[in-house]
Amino acid sequence: MKFSQMEYKRPNFEETNAKYKELLKNIKAAKTAEECFTAYNAFNDYNIVVQSMFNLANIRKSLNTKDEFYAAEHEYIEEIGPELEKATQEISKALLESPFRKEMEDAWGKLMFTNLEMEQKTFSPEVIEDLQEENKLSTEWADLMASAVIEFEGKQLNLSKMGPYFQNLDREVRKKAVNTCSDWFMAHSEQLDSIFDALVKVRTRIAKKLGYESFTELGYHRLQRNSYDQNMVAKLREGILKYFVPITTRLKAEQAKRIGVPSITIVDSGFSYPDGNPTPKGTPDEIFEHGKKMYAELSPETSKFFNFMVDNELFDVLTKPNKEVIAYMDYIPMHKSPFIFANFNGTSEDIDLLTHEAGHGYATYMAKDIYPYKLLFGPEDVAEIHAMAMEFFAWPWMEGFFGEDTKKYYHNHISTIVGLFSYGALADEFQHLIYAKPEMTASDRNELWLSLSAKYRPWLDTADIPFWAEGRGWQENDHIYQCPFYYIDYCLAGVVALSFWALSQRDFKTAWAKYNQLVGFAGTKTFMDLVEACDLPNPFEPDNLKLVADMVLEWIEGNGILQ
Ligand code: ZN
Repeated sequence: MKFSQMEYKRPNFEETNAKYKELLKNIKAAKTAEECFTAYNAFNDYNIVVQSMFNLANIRKSLNTKDEFYAAEHEYIEEIGPELEKATQEISKALLESPFRKEMEDAWGKLMFTNLEMEQKTFSPEVIEDLQEENKLSTEWADLMASAVIEFEGKQLNLSKMGPYFQNLDREVRKKAVNTCSDWFMAHSEQLDSIFDALVKVRTRIAKKLGYESFTELGYHRLQRNSYDQNMVAKLREGILKYFVPITTRLKAEQAKRIGVPSITIVDSGFSYPDGNPTPKGTPDEIFEHGKKMYAELSPETSKFFNFMVDNELFDVLTKPNKEVIAYMDYIPMHKSPFIFANFNGTSEDIDLLTHEAGHGYATYMAKDIYPYKLLFGPEDVAEIHAMAMEFFAWPWMEGFFGEDTKKYYHNHISTIVGLFSYGALADEFQHLIYAKPEMTASDRNELWLSLSAKYRPWLDTADIPFWAEGRGWQENDHIYQCPFYYIDYCLAGVVALSFWALSQRDFKTAWAKYNQLVGFAGTKTFMDLVEACDLPNPFEPDNLKLVADMVLEWIEGNGILQ
């Protein structure tokens, strides 16, 4: 079914809640395992419809934040979501306490129940109002960012459309672009501070009510981190500092030399090559055509997936006024349809986004028949392997996107991924410290960002441009506002994705088969079990970090661009 034909019907609270209660009653009343399976099946089917309505409203609202109908529906859903969670958590509780739990575990695996136990710890009816407030604040941030209108060179542009100007050949244009964006952020700094302040407070309040010491533990549980803890993540950050920050420091020094500046400031940070950054060639339609060719040639499965997406209007990737300035893949389970949302702006990032979100979409498409629905998705650290590895499986087709810029694209892509590790560790440590001390003021937080930025991005000079010089750079990050502690998932997944990259260069067929093995496990394994089952490097082992860092270094030595 085409996206435009997918019918949205408001999941009315009273009706939905009553239906969940009835489904709960049936699960509790089951006298045999068979009855229990039948009752659960009915819940699974109904839940898919409710979830589909939630996701449809969210997608349509993010496509146009000024669409009054979907803005109202989104608001309604954000309001009733936590109320309905009470009912679905009761169902989870009934499953956990069911006399047929063993039979269910035998059928679906123990992990689903471990995850349900974890989910139980993230909710209690006492926090419903707080969850509603958290949802509202998160939407407020997204709406503010989507509403940004930047007056630049006689045009009115959104934040995504400003991207190409940060890469402009003319330093004066870059400087003006960076300053103009800074002005917009500074004009909204009070609102950005107060939204975040309220988010930290409400998240901490929820955590305390649920019996946690701080929001951090709750944040981990929300992200379904079921195979590693905070100490392991802290060690991972140390490893990044030791093995990857030096690589980016070196790459940034090379960049400065190439573009003829003494050091990298925020004005030049996005400008990597003296004759310009790599850009995709052709119109968005031509880029899409090549994307189609790429997935047709990659494998029969990817071909089927991409055609399904195109035929059913499941891509919305061009930037538009009032569209949210984010990129994501969402899923509409009742139509078994992934949906890819992005904001193309003519930079090489468009291709990374296309292949990244296609990785999420492909993995979901391949898992679409898995039952129960709960097992379709793994945690985000696993999902990001799907996405980041797909960026690398697309490499053999990059010439068709970038033409004579292909070599620069490869260099830029690797540099970006390695740079992301430093940024990820920075964003992660920042959040750990913030939620450990929720009483921090706005200026404390900015100071903290500056000091951590000096640790993880020592090369970066903020050039006295207020938004960055004041340590507000984190305020453009949707994950920090909307999905705390997510960012380190890109580091975890990135290490694994780079090992796919290395293997795909030696033996593409084996790498692709291994990727499909991983995708096939969907949400049935923890991150740790998954990397073990697929014989992939565990990023928590420092030796593996070193191994991957050495591989990257070796490639850079052979493929460096020092013109
Ligand atoms: Zn992703």
